[in-house]
Amino acid sequence: MNPEQIQSIRKDFPILAEEVYNKKLIYFDNAATTQKPRCVVEKIAYGYYHINANIHRGVHYLSRQATEAHENARQAVASFLHAAKREEIIFTRGATEAINLAAFSFGEAFCGEGDEIVVSAMEHHANIVPWQMLCERKKMKLRVIPVNGRGELDMAAFGGLLNERTRMIAVAHVSNVLGTINPVDEIIGKAHAHDIPVLIDGAQALAHIPVDVEKLDADFYTFSGHKIYGPTGVGVLYGKEKWLNAIPPYQGGGEMISNVSFEKTTYNEIPFKFEAGTPDYIGSTALVEALRYIEATGLDKINAYEHELLTYATGRLLKEIDKARIIGTAENKSAVLSFLIGNIHPYDIGMLLDKMGIAVRTGHHCAQPLIDFYGIPGTVRASFAFYNTKEEIDIFIDALKKAVAMLT
Ligand code: PMP
Repeated sequence: MNPEQIQSIRKDFPILAEEVYNKKLIYFDNAATTQKPRCVVEKIAYGYYHINANIHRGVHYLSRQATEAHENARQAVASFLHAAKREEIIFTRGATEAINLAAFSFGEAFCGEGDEIVVSAMEHHANIVPWQMLCERKKMKLRVIPVNGRGELDMAAFGGLLNERTRMIAVAHVSNVLGTINPVDEIIGKAHAHDIPVLIDGAQALAHIPVDVEKLDADFYTFSGHKIYGPTGVGVLYGKEKWLNAIPPYQGGGEMISNVSFEKTTYNEIPFKFEAGTPDYIGSTALVEALRYIEATGLDKINAYEHELLTYATGRLLKEIDKARIIGTAENKSAVLSFLIGNIHPYDIGMLLDKMGIAVRTGHHCAQPLIDFYGIPGTVRASFAFYNTKEEIDIFIDALKKAVAMLT
């Protein structure tokens, strides 16, 4: 993408023109949440202004309109993920809820005492704690794929973790701390050779790399709307039809029932079985607007440009900032730059950058076991999106130099 295209993209994201502390905002916290293009915000407003009514239950015109919009959104998400069927798309509040749903319901149906779940050492807490809760509930064991110093999964060790008690493998597609793009196709291939299903946490992947869940043969795939330029409060659990039919509901109430009596309640079909209560039908329709936006821009182009930004920032950081050290140097990496400078605490750098108008994240990034593995207090994380520019990186490097001068 050329600078004119980027400038035109930036105009679609009004927040990028904001100032903080009288300085131009530089937003490098895209792994935490992405900014929203105007079309997404307008779709939310349109939904509330024109089609707002509770879905599925009403016979009236507006309710049918809203229901149709929500179900069309399901189809659009299915197409985006290349899922075989729209029923395989469950709307949730986000990736966290999607993983909790899968862990709970799969655990109820298929796990028992002595069974094992495999996660990796680089998981976000959202892909650790729900499995840990399952392990506590059912007296099971959580096993962990180790990472190497570069922040890549130890695939040899992974093979050694699989046995007849392994019930599920849950790994991130892309690490939110390191940017590592994990070899999920290889993981799924090895797991399936042992008849073990795999859940891929795609929270950090989908905005950056094309995903085809059918080709990947993922059993479950999860993501959050807000990390892919969509609204917050809506996310997705993709599950293969055979699994979704075989596992019990996660929450009760609303449209998830078929018939309720005090003696016995029967459950609705998928996907409704997993969407208890009023779904976020405004969020789901606005999410589709975001998916359309990135499809129109082109994920391949986005990926190539973000990679250019990452390479540029990495090069300047290592060359120009004394004692800079990058955490996460995997061969296959998305646009996340986690780093430390000498012994300076990441929080101090983050605070000073903030005062210069630059938003980065500092701390453990909800991946404490990984931070402990590196024996560090956390990192400073700059995460890029396709609306960021090399000029912003130049300002960031200058600001870092100033911060380091103040802190040493
Ligand atoms: N997994 C990963 C890899 C993430 O980066 C995040 C968000 N930081 C999540 C899961 C959880 O996403 P959410 O908070 O939107 O549910």
